[in-house]
Formats: sequence, structure tokens, C-alpha cells
Amino acid sequence: MRINLSSHDLKAADHAHHLHPFTDHGTFGIDDRKVISRADGVWLWDTDGNRILDGMAGLWCVNVGHGRSEIVEAVRAQMSELSYYNTFFKTSHLPVIELSKMLAEVTPAHMNMVFYGSSGSDSNDTVLRMVRSYWDIMGKPDKKVIISRKNAYHGSTVAGASLGGMGGMHGQGDLPIPGIHHIEQPYWFGEGMQSGMSEADFGVWAAQELDRAIEELGEDKIAAFIAEPIQGAGGVIVPPDTYWPEVKKILDKRDILFISDEVICGFGRVGEWFGADYYGTTPDFMPIAKGLTSGYLPLGGVVMSDRVAEAFHNSAAGEFYHGYTYSGHPAACAAAIANLEIVKKEKLVERVRDDIGPVLQKFWHALGEHELVGEARMAGLFGALELVPDKSDLAKRFANVGRVGTIARDHSFKNGLVMRAVRDSLIISPPLTLSEEEAGLLAKAARKTLDDTWQTLKSEGLV
Ligand code: PMP
Repeated sequence: MRINLSSHDLKAADHAHHLHPFTDHGTFGIDDRKVISRADGVWLWDTDGNRILDGMAGLWCVNVGHGRSEIVEAVRAQMSELSYYNTFFKTSHLPVIELSKMLAEVTPAHMNMVFYGSSGSDSNDTVLRMVRSYWDIMGKPDKKVIISRKNAYHGSTVAGASLGGMGGMHGQGDLPIPGIHHIEQPYWFGEGMQSGMSEADFGVWAAQELDRAIEELGEDKIAAFIAEPIQGAGGVIVPPDTYWPEVKKILDKRDILFISDEVICGFGRVGEWFGADYYGTTPDFMPIAKGLTSGYLPLGGVVMSDRVAEAFHNSAAGEFYHGYTYSGHPAACAAAIANLEIVKKEKLVERVRDDIGPVLQKFWHALGEHELVGEARMAGLFGALELVPDKSDLAKRFANVGRVGTIARDHSFKNGLVMRAVRDSLIISPPLTLSEEEAGLLAKAARKTLDDTWQTLKSEGLV
């Protein structure tokens, strides 16, 4: 890297010239930032010389770990051969063909076609346009409404944020756009246990929200239901076991499409190739990104079912006026191919299901015994710790939601572990290559973080 400044001067330059995503710049001081300079495996190094365990795999994406020379080499070779060409106007190229073939092999049997973009957000823009176009092609142009869920995350573009169910995001930019309807989420710890229902009944109730919305709005107006198999950014919300079977029943009897947003759950995170495999659902669309390239280069896409693909191949469909300059970018496709080869060769999906997943889950569930933790949940390598003020009354929450989560997150960084705070929970999503020893280190740093947070809260009179 050419820039040659001291750690402090780097931070000052970042502060002066770089507007960060999802950041309150009013409170983001020069020295609040970390400048990450190097990474290898599950480890990060910053310009202050700290080594930090990357418990979030970057931003839920570096599934094969950092610094994989196989991907670097594949990208270098592709860049020398053909660094860019488009896939518009009846052209294609080798890496996009090879990757599409590979994806058809690992995605569910009824999904064999993919449309590319560069991110999860633009994949959801694509999905919104495809879903509505599909019903136009099928002669049902009134089917336009997409049902989503409160506290869902589907990206930051206008369509992505509208499909998402984050109130704060909707408040900026006059969202959601028309034609999106949000139903309740299956968040047992946050909302279910306060309802007086059992967890199983709450799961069924939350699923039936979908049926109630379809009744209310009219099946002839509904185009699709979109959901993350497990909500990620919303707080790693693993739904009750009764939720997806009930949703599946509803989808089976209703004439609407199902979009399983696999941007985080896809490519092994939950110990199956996709969240849809994990829960046995049958999607019509799967937006994908993140683990597709493990974040080595930006690439996203929308995998679609055969029935959708057939509709778009129908001669009555005409041209689909949609695409991005970087749809199927050759170097990004080369990164994805090399990445998927690693996932297959190292059996990372099976490893999460049978080996490192159960190991980390055991450590994680043991943290559930800590006095600060109300619930410790984890599916695959995807987990959350709910922090509570009084373990003897799990319905109680901290006042000033988010404050304790932030305190804990800051302690975690100091203890050499990246965990993310969502409200007053801590979440993790480490690389799928995590070793047993590293899982132990992760759990140790997480426990110290809970102890340190407890001490801070005690000294501030908050517990
Ligand atoms: N969908 C889901 C489920 C996500 O978690 C994310 C990103 N966290 C997105 C879409 C948006 O992806 P991107 O940030 O690549 O635009």
C-alpha cells in the first residue's frame, strides 16, 4: 500500500475524507476507528498492532477465511486473460458460464438459472422487478404486493431498504416504496415470550401472519413473500421450530412466489448449502452475495426456480430491461469459482454441520449460563447472546435499548474479538474455517467480554 502515515494520521485522514456506511458521524471521533491493515485466516491486524479474531467474517461474508492465495491467484489469472467484458447484447464469457453451471449444481434441484449483480442489495432490486414482471408475463398484472417482515434486512438500496423492515431506514428517504407490506417477525426472545404464548404456538402464530396478510390484502394482489431463513442484521433471529413448517404449508396452498434471501445464510453458514435446505423450503428466488465470493470481490445474484426461468424464456415475455454493467463480472466470477472450489474441497458445509458447528455451539450455549445472558442461540456458525439485566426475569430489558450492547461490543474489541451489537445482543458469524482451538479462544474472549460488561454495568449502577 502506498499510503505511508502513522496510525493516528491515517485515522485523521479517514475522519477528514471518508463518510462511512451505517455510522453516526456526529459521534465518530478520529480515535474511535480501527484501521485494519492485514488479515489471515480468522485473524485481523490493525495499524496499532492489535491482533483481533474476526468473529463476524468481515461482514458475514469471509466464509473461507482471509488471505486465501487460491482466490488471489484465480483472480490474477482471470484479470490477465479478460479483466472485463459485459454480458449484455448476446455476449457471455468463460467464468460466468462456469460459475453458473457450478451454482446450478449446489443450489436446490429445481433452481438452475442465475441473474448476476454486485451485491445483496442490488440482487433484491432485481428480485423485486423480476417478481412483478413474472406475474405480468403470467397474465396476472394485479399481483404486485410483496409481503416482508418487520426487522428484516434486505439491503440499503431503495428496493432493498423498502423490502427490509427497519423503521430507522424507512425514516430516511421516504421509504418503503408502495406495494410492500410488513408482517410480524418470529422473534421469540424479543417479542414472543412477552405474549403469553408457548414458543411453539408463537412460531405458528407468526407464520400465520402471512396467511392473515394474504386474506386481508387479497391473494390476487400478492406477488411474493420475502424472508431471510434466519434474520441476520435483525439480530440472528432463529425462528421457533414450528415457524418454517407452517409458512411452508401456507405457501403450498397459496398462488404466490417465495423469495428466500440467502445473502447471509447461503454457502454453508448454517451447515447446509442454503437456509432453504436447512428449513426444507422451496424458493422461487434466492438472492445471493457475500459467501458467493467470500467477499474477495463484489458479486451478487438471484438464483431462480425452473418455473420462473421458463416464464422469462417464454417468447411472450419480451426483453427484460434490467442489468448492471458488472452483471457477471469476469474477475468476480473467477473469485466465486475459486471460493466455491475451496468450500467443496474442504467440505466446509459438512464441517459446519457435523464438526466445528457443534463445537462452537457447545461453547456458546455454555455462555448462556452467564448472569448477563438471557438466551444463547446458534444455528451453524451463526449466533446471538441476548443480554438482560435480571436473569431471574427474562421478560425484563435494559432501559435505553442499545446502550448495553454497545458497551459489550466495545469490551469485545478490547478483548481481541469482533462481535457486533444489535440492540442489547451480541452476535457472531465467524469464518467457516474456524479451528477448534480458535473456537475456544473465541468463547474465552466472549466470556471475558461478558464479565467486563457486567463489571461496567455494576459500577454504573445498571444491574
Ligand atoms: N440481504 C441480506 C439478508 C443481508 O444480510 C444483506 C447484507 N447484510 C443484504 C441483503 C444486502 O447485501 P449488500 O450489503 O451486499 O448489499
